[in-house]
Amino acid sequence: MTNVTSDTPVALVSGASRGIGAEIARTLAAKGFDIVIVYYTTEPVPTDVKEECEKLRPGTKVIMIPADVSLEEDCKRVVNLTKDTFGRVDVLVNNAGITRDGLAMRMSVDQFTSVINTNLTSAFILSSLCLAIMARQKHGRIINMSSVSGVYGNPGQANYSASKAGLIGLTKSLAKEMGSRNITVNAIAPGFIETPMTASLSEEVKKAAIGRIALGRFGQPKDVAAIIAFLASDDAAYITGQVIEVSGGLTL
Ligand code: NAP
Repeated sequence: MTNVTSDTPVALVSGASRGIGAEIARTLAAKGFDIVIVYYTTEPVPTDVKEECEKLRPGTKVIMIPADVSLEEDCKRVVNLTKDTFGRVDVLVNNAGITRDGLAMRMSVDQFTSVINTNLTSAFILSSLCLAIMARQKHGRIINMSSVSGVYGNPGQANYSASKAGLIGLTKSLAKEMGSRNITVNAIAPGFIETPMTASLSEEVKKAAIGRIALGRFGQPKDVAAIIAFLASDDAAYITGQVIEVSGGLTL
């Protein structure tokens, strides 16, 4: 591949095969970004997201990279391919995430570390690799997908909550470290959003959750994608180190 630096800004979105990540990819494509879609296991290969991004803004360049973002060598491959294809990376959205719920007293160490590695270590690795490029560009935006579980904790989610709380610490430290290079780092803390991840919740759990949400409903992926688009825009240039909750008032 050729190393071409174009004028079009580039957004790299992990976990963009479905759910919130797919909507972030579509929204950023519509806002003028070329897109790197990172996904893991989805079969068939999620070419529909790529095609939708290309349709939303004709001329949009989209590449898709299968990778396990918990592995350093896969993250290096993702960032190298991005650099070789586009010559730049302007926005990194660390969105890939998994749950492996269970009570802590019965949770295996593998159950704990697999969630930490996929949700948190991945964000550190991808951020570290992209920051080297962003620092040279003297511009960059990193947005980490945390959760209200990371702010308030959640029974049955010691692993997930720890990973999402870790993302908040990572966000604030990187914001302080990289501010002088014109790089902002922020986190989003969604509540309940309708995606494949929440589709498996029982009707009873969903009903109880809705009872606690001020707006009386689950959010949609576009509710999260909208704030990502704002944080990626020039209008958000003076916002860094923040955790923005998108929960319909769940935690009021
Ligand atoms: P989802 O529908 O389950 O999608 C998860 C995405 O992450 C998929 O694209 C998946 O790729 C990718 N992924 C998982 N493991 C990966 C790995 N090792 N390497 C690369 N990609 C991997 O989840 P979602 O609901 O859209 O959630 C997206 C993010 O928002 C997650 O970080 C989640 O924790 C967070 N969040 C969600 C909610 C909610 O209510 N939905 C609330 C708070 C926070 P494949 O499909 O290809 O495996």
